[in-house]
Amino acid sequence: MDYSNLVDFYKKLGSTQSSLEKTAILSDLFSGRDDRELEILVKLCMGRIFSAWKDEDIGISSKLMVKALKKVSGSGEKAINQEWKSTGDLGETAENILGRKRQQTFAVSKLTVEKVHENLKEIADFEGSGSQSRKIDNISEILSMAKPEEAKYIVRTVLRNMRLGVGEGIVRDAILEAFFPSILEITEASEEKFNGKRVLVGKKVSQKFLEEKRDVEHETFDFELSEMSEIDFDRFDFIVLDKSDAKNLYSYLKEAVQHGYDVTNDFGDVAVTAKNKGIKGLRGLEMKIFRPVNAMLAKKVDTIGEGFETVGKPAGVDYKYDGMRAQIHKKGDEVKIFTRRLDDVTEQFPDVEKAVKEFVDTDECIIDSEIVAYDPDDGSMVPFQRLSKRIKRKYDIEDIVNKIPVEVRPFDILYLRKALIKEKYSERFLKLEKIVEEKEGVIRLVDRIVTDDEEDVNAMQQRSLSEGQEGIMMKNLDAEYKPGSRVGYMVKLKPVMETLDLVIIGAEWSEGRRSGWLGSLTMGCRDEDGNYLEVGKLATGLTDEQLEEITNRLEPLIVEEDGRQVKVSPEVVVEAEFEEIQKSPTYTSGFALRFPRLKRFRDDKEDADSIEKVARLYKSQN
Ligand code: AMP
Repeated sequence: MDYSNLVDFYKKLGSTQSSLEKTAILSDLFSGRDDRELEILVKLCMGRIFSAWKDEDIGISSKLMVKALKKVSGSGEKAINQEWKSTGDLGETAENILGRKRQQTFAVSKLTVEKVHENLKEIADFEGSGSQSRKIDNISEILSMAKPEEAKYIVRTVLRNMRLGVGEGIVRDAILEAFFPSILEITEASEEKFNGKRVLVGKKVSQKFLEEKRDVEHETFDFELSEMSEIDFDRFDFIVLDKSDAKNLYSYLKEAVQHGYDVTNDFGDVAVTAKNKGIKGLRGLEMKIFRPVNAMLAKKVDTIGEGFETVGKPAGVDYKYDGMRAQIHKKGDEVKIFTRRLDDVTEQFPDVEKAVKEFVDTDECIIDSEIVAYDPDDGSMVPFQRLSKRIKRKYDIEDIVNKIPVEVRPFDILYLRKALIKEKYSERFLKLEKIVEEKEGVIRLVDRIVTDDEEDVNAMQQRSLSEGQEGIMMKNLDAEYKPGSRVGYMVKLKPVMETLDLVIIGAEWSEGRRSGWLGSLTMGCRDEDGNYLEVGKLATGLTDEQLEEITNRLEPLIVEEDGRQVKVSPEVVVEAEFEEIQKSPTYTSGFALRFPRLKRFRDDKEDADSIEKVARLYKSQN
């Protein structure tokens, strides 16, 4: 296909905002192509050179592009930069400067889509000394064959700035439109549309159809979703159904295309499969080891109750670690580690590679996990910012492995000798448990409980936060794994409220193992007159060290004792986190903090926040 032909499609895509129109334009682009062409076109229309799962970058900066333009156009860098400044787009700049030059010379050979793709693909392999100039040569070659407006799109492709508004949803719908019959409701069916076309008509509407459109050649069938895979869609241009069946069939087909993409992460493969093997082929597509799929994403919830509403009861409740998402693929003795953006970071994590080889007992799997860094001296967790130093590191890797050791925390499994993503999460987790041998500091399953009790979830949240982690994730036990989707099969709950600085005004002697320590702290805010009003009790989530410190601080301040209850002089200020503020008749302020947690002592403060602040935060929640 001539590149100029593709440019016509680019221009059409750029001239409309409507997703439906973009879908139709793309469907037109995809129809009637051979496999090789189709694969390339699907990538190029999304502004890609490689498939989404491929961790390859051609590494051409705007600066290098200016050099290539200089070479092709004969214009000086200064002139190019000036033009670039005024257009704000290097693609347009290329079009303008080449436009001026082309008055003298004329491109002789025609540029094809394949040639553009081939040259750009090659660039990714250029490495080491001299690679910059080879990259420039390679781009210059196609730019010198290009017409000015073609050059515009080549430059935009290379710089990954297509500005066409073609996202994954549009490509998916266009594949559907290109390779499956159009689905119409009976009300949309008109005789002229069907002229010379092959039509399949659902039984439910066939009577009506016959009455109105006697001359159209058609077949009728009983619409049943379960039988859809039997239909040879290739034989028809249109399917006519009643409203609800039309809707069902459309989602069924869309789901099949989406499934294809979910497991292959490659719309090129999906398009070719849809074209050659139809619905059965799409359903039969499977995940492959070493080809990463998009990670399932989490929705955010603000309360534990909302979490249960979204994922159902009981739920799996995990620590949410402040680490790096890692999809780990293992086959035989080979392991690869991919980030959430599907970059291959195996080289940066030889320790993880080794851990998985040694402690994951299977020859073929794909595991979803969080890699968490810890302090080599005391084992305490260190935040992501520090771990992130390892992700881009290209040299002295051994050194940084020792300085910033990590532990793998697997939380899901997508593949175990076969794809598992359609299985329930509870079953997947059982399988994960079976193959991971735990070793502290190397690899351990996530901290996790299964519960339907809000108090348990709260306790988990408290523990996670007090250990320096981010909060918790709640997960639907019956859900499949949906790559790339934020469907609400898992939710994250992080404390999002502003914190309050409160004074401790009372406490209680603890019982059992902790007797001898003061706990269950009554916290107060300040009113206008400087009195303290209770806003709740901080009882759970305190570590032994914290209880000891609290006792040491409060014991000298006790002013009154009544059984286990004590009142203390209001001197110790703490910063409290909590899930929400509720109205409460129990406490003198009229408010109660739900699930409060001690964040830290505020020795720098002498006084508590005011009741006004509590009331303001209460209002801001709604
Ligand atoms: P966020 O990045 O805030 O959208 O939260 C989702 C991220 O939390 C995931 O992409 C993971 O990297 C991370 N995470 C930490 N612990 C877990 C866990 N137990 N289950 C799932 N994701 C987790």
